[in-house]
This record gives sequence, C-alpha cells and structure tokens, in this order.
Amino acid sequence: MLVCASCKTAFPVDRPRWRCECGSYLVLSASGMFSPGDLAGRPASLWRYREALGIEDSTPAVTLGEGFTPLADATLDGFPLKLKLDFLCPTGSYKDRGSAVMITRFKSWGVSEILEDSSGNAGASIAAYAALAGIRANIYIPQSASAGKAAQISMYGARLVKVPGTRADTARAAWNAASDIFYASHNWSPYFLAGMKTAAYEIAEQSAWNTPDWVVVPVGGGGLLAGLYLGFSDLLKAGIIRSMPRLAAVQSANCDPVYRAWLQGLSDVPGAEPKPTAAEGIAVAQPVRGKAILEAIRGSNGVVRTVADDLIWDSVEALGRQGVYVEPTAAVAPSALAAMRKEGLIAAADRVVVILTGSGLKATDKVVEHYAAQEPAMAGSGAPMHRV
Ligand SMILES: [Zn+2]
Repeated sequence: MLVCASCKTAFPVDRPRWRCECGSYLVLSASGMFSPGDLAGRPASLWRYREALGIEDSTPAVTLGEGFTPLADATLDGFPLKLKLDFLCPTGSYKDRGSAVMITRFKSWGVSEILEDSSGNAGASIAAYAALAGIRANIYIPQSASAGKAAQISMYGARLVKVPGTRADTARAAWNAASDIFYASHNWSPYFLAGMKTAAYEIAEQSAWNTPDWVVVPVGGGGLLAGLYLGFSDLLKAGIIRSMPRLAAVQSANCDPVYRAWLQGLSDVPGAEPKPTAAEGIAVAQPVRGKAILEAIRGSNGVVRTVADDLIWDSVEALGRQGVYVEPTAAVAPSALAAMRKEGLIAAADRVVVILTGSGLKATDKVVEHYAAQEPAMAGSGAPMHRV
C-alpha cells in the first residue's frame, strides 16, 4: 500500500500515483524483509535486498548493477574512517539506488513519459534508467548546474530543460509542467526512498552486521538521510542489528534550513533563503520530507552541522590526496568531521562511515573554475593548483 504521510489515506500500489489528493507525500507501507542467511550467492547489487524494496519478485528489475559499492578504509585528519564510495554507482552518483527502484515501478505501471526536476545528479540518474526502460524523460535542471551533469542527461537521450534562477525556480517550472506529464520527482517518490534504504543495508552487511557509531551524510532534499534511518530501523526491527548508528546530517552554511529547524526544535523544516554554494547538489531551500529528516536525526540521536565553502574545498583536496575524487557536494560530509571531533562529539575510538555521494568528474568545470579564480597564474600552467 501507498499511505499518505499526512492524512493516512491508503492507495493500491498497482497504478501510477505520486502524491495524495491532500497534497502530501506518500510512504510505502508493509514492505517485507530479507534474512542475512539468504544473501549468499545473490547479485552484488542493491537487488540482493529485493524483499525490502516493495517490488514483487515477478517484476523485472530495471538495473545497471547499482549498489553494493565499496566500503573503503581511509585516513582523514589523522583519524581512520570508512568511506562508502557511492559515487561508483553507474551514473556516478548514489541517486542510482533510488532511480533503479523507482523506474522499475514506473515500467511495471506502464508509464511512458516522465518529468523530473533536479540539481543535476538525480536528473542524470533518472534519465539513464528511463532510457534503459524505454520511458521518455523530461529533466529540468538549474541553468547553473555542472556541465558534466547536463551533458550526461542529454547523452541518455532525455529532453533537457535548463531553468534560470535558483533550484526552487527549477522545481516550480517542473511543477507547472507536471499537470500534463507524470511527475517522477525523486523528492516525492516512496520507491526512490525505498532504494535509498539499501545504503543502510549495505553498510550493515559490509560491517558484518556490527553497525558503526556514526554515519555522516550531506543533506539537501534529505532522501539519503531518511532512507538510511528507515533502512537501519528495518534491520533493528528484524533483530538483524543491535544498535542504530548516530546519523550526522551536514549542510552548506549557505543553505541550512534543516540545521535551523533542528536547532529551534521544530517538527518540520520551513523554507530558507539560500546563498550560492559550491555544494550545488544540496542547495535545497525547503525539503519536501522535512518531517522525515528531523525524525531521522532525532530518532538516531544524531546531529546537524553546517560547513563553509572553503572547508568543503579543503575536503575535496584532502580526499583527492587519498585517491578519491568527489564533487564539492560529496565533500560536505567529511568537512564536518574535524569540528565534530574537536567538540568531543566523535570520540577517537568511534567507528565512522562517511557516504561519498557524487563523482568529481561530474563537476570538473566547477573545480577548474574555482582554482582558476583562486590562482589565475597557476591555472593552465601545468603547476599544481592546490594551495598547500
Ligand atoms: Zn493525504
């Protein structure tokens, strides 16, 4: 069943629907659960957890082998931690977890054309899986989105619409067009969220079901954070793990509506006026799932932190020196760690997992732009561009 998060009206899962008549988003109820003993021999993708995805066995998966990304050992600021390399999903971002499950459902519904708005990564991901499923895709992105993401969307054969202004302007333009075409928003779809849960299942399985103390993620729309909380909650409920990791949500200081709502003890997230940030992927002024985000943070005894853009760029560099090239949005999560350790929030012995969400290759134009503006004499000279 699809159940309204607000008025609790229930809808069957066998026909297309993206929200309740009352205007609220839908949640997927009564999905099943896998047992760890059954996983041996299953594919090394998120489909190994199919029982928990709300997709029947008889429905063919639209898949490129997404998920089951490495959980790699690394050292940042002198401390060991684990990096979940989710930018190694097929389109270069963790969004493939949601797209694969959502597009699988759309195909089973017989949906022939969809519309999506995104800062870029979700649009590219949904365009890829729509192409695979033979579904026409219309993708709205901000004019300012990274060139790599826009090129990707076009190469997947989607109709790309660039909207001037903010991320919110892009959402509004898509919203207006959604009266004619099925709205496939990743921020609304319960199936997209079901796909996000698999990040929690993987971290748990790759840790031999001995969950870490902290899982640190960047937060904009909050799909990954809400999905992690649901996923770890599923595992706790089924008795597969014994403790819930603390979830740390990190936002850009230039767009921090979740941080403010959390500080003020609110139960939902009011809109904020965002300023430009290098973390384009999380520049969301008002997340649709505000309540779920705050529940995930409080329910896991988690925290919200914000980071300034210069710290984000420092993390892009620090990860690069570990052989890991991510986009600035993905570097937001690790850039909060040093302050959290200094506060005593993260103890030296704590086991920390940081999810790295998007590949640096998508945002190479922004990386070049940033360092060219900083050191014009160095750019293009073949000299190292970093400051250290
Ligand atoms: Zn409703």
